[in-house]
Amino acid sequence: MSELERKRGAAPVPVDWTYAPAPEARDIVSLRERYGLYVGGDWIEPHSGETFTTIDPSTEEPLAEIAQAGPEDVSLAVEAARSAFENGWSALAPSERAKYLFRIARILQERSREFAVLESLNGGKPIRESRDVDLPLSAAHFFYYAGWADKLEYAFPNRTPRPLGVAGQIIPWNFPLLMLAWKVAPALAAGNTVVLKPAETTPLSALLFCDVLRQAELPQGVVNIVTGDGRTGAEIVKHPGIDKIAFTGSTDVGKAIQRELAGSRKKLTLELGGKAANVVFDDAPLDQAIEGIVNGIYFNQGHVCCAGSRLLVQESIYEQLIAKLKRRLGTLRVGAPLDKNTDVGAINSRQQLDKIEELVQTGRDEGAEIYQPPCRLPERGYWFAPTVFTNVAQSYRIAQEEIFGPVLSVLTFRTPDEAVEKANNTPYGLSAGVWTEKGSRILAVAQRLRAGVVWANTYNRFDPASPFGGYKESGFGREGGLHGLEPYLRFESSEPFGS
Ligand code: ADP
Repeated sequence: MSELERKRGAAPVPVDWTYAPAPEARDIVSLRERYGLYVGGDWIEPHSGETFTTIDPSTEEPLAEIAQAGPEDVSLAVEAARSAFENGWSALAPSERAKYLFRIARILQERSREFAVLESLNGGKPIRESRDVDLPLSAAHFFYYAGWADKLEYAFPNRTPRPLGVAGQIIPWNFPLLMLAWKVAPALAAGNTVVLKPAETTPLSALLFCDVLRQAELPQGVVNIVTGDGRTGAEIVKHPGIDKIAFTGSTDVGKAIQRELAGSRKKLTLELGGKAANVVFDDAPLDQAIEGIVNGIYFNQGHVCCAGSRLLVQESIYEQLIAKLKRRLGTLRVGAPLDKNTDVGAINSRQQLDKIEELVQTGRDEGAEIYQPPCRLPERGYWFAPTVFTNVAQSYRIAQEEIFGPVLSVLTFRTPDEAVEKANNTPYGLSAGVWTEKGSRILAVAQRLRAGVVWANTYNRFDPASPFGGYKESGFGREGGLHGLEPYLRFESSEPFGS
């Protein structure tokens, strides 16, 4: 009891720092019991007659029945896309194409709460992230590429850019709407039409997006959405009517797609896995770096291909940094995705949880030291506590393989050379982070890191104007910026100054 309270004879005021639940209302989302396939501007039933159930991974409750598209369905979607391409879309004045993209962007903004709630419901990510990252960025991609649609001649001077035709797009489950935006916006801006397949665990935002397409009065068949698992994806990849494949997903599937398309005329871009190094030098602003490390690996439960999953710390600050990191981990709130206070939501699927658990077990078995802050995980649904491994050797599986979960492996280094060598010691090359006060060191280190994106004194920053993509087994081709338009175009004159 304080001196003042004793004088007043008052009882001590209990201090309780736990947060009261702050759930976002979910009634803004109205789900159908069952969804068909969106082909040629209409909903059709799958020829296969097959469906599967999509669930809320935080409760395992079923949300809706989803169609499993078979070969006939994919063919119908490709025909619809081809017909839309040939009968209007590719010949439309580019400024008219831009109008549709601007319209889609504005509708996404207007309906952002509905989409954000749906994204968290179906994917398990915290509403704070869907609301503040996925939705604003999705709309921003449509705005950005809308701006280019009528300026392609200026973007690629003297090269006479032309659309390719029908783009087949296959996306993953970690950022369902954002990955759709990354793919659909540049494809349409360049004058192509689209057949897109969302991931099997998170199809709902792509299906709601069909509503946006109708609202925007996009001509029928310009965008077709077919749902299903990897079999549907494989049908899209091999369909002869498709001119370009854009794939984001695992390295194994990416390799299989590349094998399938070898020798074909289809263009291909692959955005695959990663095992990014977040490199912290001893002169780094430590508290800021802690926030970057936490954002780098626990954002979206670590279901991020560019997640900073390997922390490389300069030896002299190791003890201090780990102590701060552990303290910060204790303040992360793990729980209901729709709660506005939640920092770490649900793991996306049983399958992904099994994979995380398996790799974490190998970390223990190989001799790494595990730390998890005390936190109570909900009984139902798929959950994994934020995890840090110390005493990690470069050869351990947790230092080499992509875990795609909230699991950080910490390694140390003494010199910048050693940091660069360790950072590059991975089959991947998607992203990296550098933390130091010295500008010259940022430039010197960033130049030697074999990663498509290098963040300096920040992490996981995205902008539609900035190209994103990988080296080595992280894939090839870029999304975002002007670079992101190029894979959707062919050039009648490839000479820089034309002939
Ligand atoms: P993850 O292992 O993280 O689920 P995948 O690479 O399996 O990643 O999935 C990414 C996307 O690729 C999903 O939409 C999935 O359905 C699709 N997919 C899976 N297998 C294939 C395949 N053989 N061909 C084409 N697409 C596939």
